[in-house]
Amino acid sequence: MNIETKCLHSGYYPENSEPRVVPIVQSTTYRFDSTEHIADIFDDPTKGLIYSRFANPTCDAVEKKIAALEGGVAAMLTSSGQAASLCSILNICSAGDSFISASSIYGGTVNLFGVTMKKFGIECIWVDGNASEEEIQKAFKPNTKAVFGETLANPALQVCDIEKFARIAHKNYVPLIIDNTFPTPILCRPIEYGADIVIHSTSKYMDGHAIQIGGVIVDSGNFNWEKAYEKTGKFADFVEPDESYHGLVYTKKYGNLAYILKARMQLMRDFGCYPSAHSAFLLNLGLETLAVRMKQYCENALTVAKYFEKRTDKIERVNYPALKNDKYYELAKKYLKDGCSGVITFSIKGGRSAAVRFMDGLKLASNVVHVADIRTCVLHPAAETHRQLTDEQLTAAGIDGGMIRFSCGLENVEDIISDIEQALNNV
Ligand SMILES: *Cc1c(COP(=O)(O)O)cnc(C)c1O
Repeated sequence: MNIETKCLHSGYYPENSEPRVVPIVQSTTYRFDSTEHIADIFDDPTKGLIYSRFANPTCDAVEKKIAALEGGVAAMLTSSGQAASLCSILNICSAGDSFISASSIYGGTVNLFGVTMKKFGIECIWVDGNASEEEIQKAFKPNTKAVFGETLANPALQVCDIEKFARIAHKNYVPLIIDNTFPTPILCRPIEYGADIVIHSTSKYMDGHAIQIGGVIVDSGNFNWEKAYEKTGKFADFVEPDESYHGLVYTKKYGNLAYILKARMQLMRDFGCYPSAHSAFLLNLGLETLAVRMKQYCENALTVAKYFEKRTDKIERVNYPALKNDKYYELAKKYLKDGCSGVITFSIKGGRSAAVRFMDGLKLASNVVHVADIRTCVLHPAAETHRQLTDEQLTAAGIDGGMIRFSCGLENVEDIISDIEQALNNV
C-alpha cells in the first residue's frame, strides 16, 4: 500500500459484519473464562488484553496504523508528546546514565531533558546539530546510551541530518531516537535514514484539529541490543532477566520487538500514561486525512513563506527550509522532498512591539499556544512561551523579540495572505 492508502486502511481490518470504522472499546477491562487464562496473559501480555492502562483494542488499531506509516515493527501510544519523549529515554537510561541530544529541539523537551531528567540522575549532553561527526563524537561518555534529535525543530526549523546522527550513534552502539512531529511520516520517515526509534506529539498534525493531546513511540525493530550489549555492556535490562516480569529476557522472548514491549510492560504498566480509547478514536480520524492535509499545508506555507520573503520592507528574515535561501535548504531537499510542513518562523522589523502589533492585528489567524492546527495560528515566543527570558537569553535560544511562529492552516492561501497583508500594514 502507498502511504495515502495506509492512512485509511492500516491497523484495522474488519471481518464479516464487524463495524467499518475502528470502534471505540470504552472498557477498562476484559473478561476471561478461567484464572489460568488470565495467568497466561500475565506471563506474556502479547497473548491478549487484560487492562486498559497499557493496552486497548482502539489504541491497538491506531498503534498499528502509525507503525505502518513510519515503517516500524510496532508502536505504543502515550497520553502526550511529552510522555512519549520521557518514555523513549527512560526505556533505555536510568540513574547514572547519559544521552546526547541536539540542542535545537522543542522547548518542552529541552526542559524535560535538561531540568527534570537531571533530577532522575540522567544527564542530557547537548550538542549543536550542525556540528561535525568528530565534534559530536567528543560528547560521548562511557555511560552514554542514546542519541536524540528532531527532524524539523520546533520552532527553530533546523533540519536534522538524520544519517549523520545515525552513523555516530551506531558507531558507538547506541540507538538514535528522532522526534518526527512536524514532518509526520507523510513528509519524512526517519527509519529509512537509520533512526531506530521515532516519537511524535500526535497533538500536532497527526490529530490536526486541535482536539486531542497525545503521543506515540515507534520501534523500527532494527537496533541490535544483544550485539550492543556484547560490545559495550550497555542495555543489560534488555538481555538479562527482568525480575519484575518473572525473569523474562526481552530480546530472547520478543526479538526485534524487545524495545517496544519492554516500554509497554515496564513503563506503561508502572506509569500508566496511556490514552483512553476515545482519545485514540479521535486521533485516528485525524490520521485518515493526514496525507491530504500535509500536502496542502506545505503548498500554503511555501506560498506564504515566499510572500514573507518579498516583504523586505517589514520583515527582517524568514525561516522555512523549502526556500532556496534557507540555511537548511540542502538538508530539506534530502529529508523533506515533499515539503517542510506548514510552520514558518519570521522576524519582523521593530522587534517585540512590532511583533505584538502584527499579531494583534490579525483577524483570520488566531493567537494560540498551539501549532500545526488545521486553522492558521500564530505564537510570539518572546511574549508567550519564552516570556520570562531577557532579550540576551532570547538571543542565546535563537529567538529575537520580533520572531513570530506562523503555522499555516488549510484556509485558502489568498485569505491567509490578505490577513497577513492587512496586519503588516498596521505595523
Ligand atoms: C508539542 C511538541 C511536543 C510535546 O507534545 P505534547 O503533545 O504537547 O505533550 C514534543 N515535540 C514536539 C516537536 C512538539 O512540537
